Amino acid sequence: MSTPFLSVRDLHVHFSTEDGVVKAVDGLSFDVVKGKTLGIVGESGSGKSVTNLAILGLHNREHTTLEGEILLDGQELLTAGERDLEKLRGNKMSMIFQDALASLSPYHTVGAQIAETYRKHTGASKKEARDRAIEMLRRVGIPQPDVRVDDYPHQFSGGMRQRAMIAMALVCDPELLIADEPTTALDVTVQAQIMDLLKDLQQEFGTAIIFITHDLGVIADIADDVLVMYGGRCVERGTKKQVLSTPDHPYTLGLLNSMPTLDGSVDVPLTPIPGSPPSLLNPPSGCRFHPRCAFAEKVSDGRCSTERPKLDVVEGRGSACLLTAEQKQDLFADFAGTRHN
Ligand code: SF4
Repeated sequence: MSTPFLSVRDLHVHFSTEDGVVKAVDGLSFDVVKGKTLGIVGESGSGKSVTNLAILGLHNREHTTLEGEILLDGQELLTAGERDLEKLRGNKMSMIFQDALASLSPYHTVGAQIAETYRKHTGASKKEARDRAIEMLRRVGIPQPDVRVDDYPHQFSGGMRQRAMIAMALVCDPELLIADEPTTALDVTVQAQIMDLLKDLQQEFGTAIIFITHDLGVIADIADDVLVMYGGRCVERGTKKQVLSTPDHPYTLGLLNSMPTLDGSVDVPLTPIPGSPPSLLNPPSGCRFHPRCAFAEKVSDGRCSTERPKLDVVEGRGSACLLTAEQKQDLFADFAGTRHN
């Protein structure tokens, strides 16, 4: 395995609120290597976006407590000052947000915003930065980039705005790109174009990508490795093939069973996961998934509600569940048959 470019170890992110402490991330560890995409999947409130804001240092410092270790190319980020983080953001690491309209300023042209990011990090002249903005718009597939560079965000379509955001995120050739649900608001065709664009750019620059989504279909398309989060913890990880074809955790199985497949039988009903994601203000004891888990009663002595399952990872593959391997083999047996026969 290549040396990780980003290494997160035992990360805890807690916020203080008027109602108490929200334990948004609780002991998360993962690595991302250059040229590969880690897909982080989970429902809203699972801690996936919070994790990435912590990596970028964009969390609310006043109300947030961070513990653990985040190493970017060997540099510790949790103890880095705001100035150092600002230098790293845009230069070494960058983020594409879900809502391009909210993230681009309506008062400045698209080109000026891309050029400004470039100038800030490289000290380039105005002319060089404008040329670079045009080049980036061309690279992300904006037609007539030398003309559209002077358009305002509202003159771009939704897909073009998202491309412009990608251009801005990549203008300084960051080595780590964090994409937080970047295609959720787009129609399926534009979504596919954006994903192809990210894959091309990754091949060209060898960028390490973290792709956050709740959509396993998107994961199937773009990820090399997958980390499944539930209630602020990682419940399963592995390669895309391992996680999607042979899930090893009841929550992952539930996500897969609630998603339609192109090759699955139309007679097989989709099964939603009952209940709602846990409150992280007062999370369930033991396994945080136990109130919703169909298999909790198969574990003796009610241990699911009292014992935190350990995440045992061997060569990048692991899950956090108290069921034995034999129990999982029996209980999950129908999975492959119902979905892929
Ligand atoms: Fe379900 Fe228990 Fe496994 Fe948690 S530990 S996923 S509750 S079986």
